Amino acid sequence: MGNTDHVVRMIDRLAIRILRARGITDARRLERGIYHSRQLRGLGCSVGPIVVLSTAFVTTGTPDELRAVIVHELAHWRLHHQLKQLWCRIIAPWKLPYMRRQHEYAADAFVRRAGLSVALASALARPDVLQHGTDSHPSVSARIDRLFA
Ligand SMILES: [Zn+2]
Repeated sequence: MGNTDHVVRMIDRLAIRILRARGITDARRLERGIYHSRQLRGLGCSVGPIVVLSTAFVTTGTPDELRAVIVHELAHWRLHHQLKQLWCRIIAPWKLPYMRRQHEYAADAFVRRAGLSVALASALARPDVLQHGTDSHPSVSARIDRLFA
């Protein structure tokens, strides 16, 4: 058991170093592979299999909302979205905004299959979430429409 603790602490330190390198300097561990940061705006983001949630969301979100957002973020990793976007940036950067929006829908579909559509919709509808679409994200209303289509 002592060895396992040692490995967990090692992975933790590594994860926190990776997050710092990505500009998230205040990450705190919530659970294995799941961290939170005050710096983060919006609900969450993923760095490989590491999920970071905003501290505000962690303190006020319901367990199902947290679960839905974690599933969404892990789907990005599972579907190799970061790697695909890295390639796209090199090969066809003009396609990147379209690809990012498609990846958002694909990660949302994962949440839908997990039976957490209502929880994700309620997390997305929170007042602290950006309501309009951006270059990389479809609008919240477009995402909610697709969750229940
Ligand atoms: Zn996403």
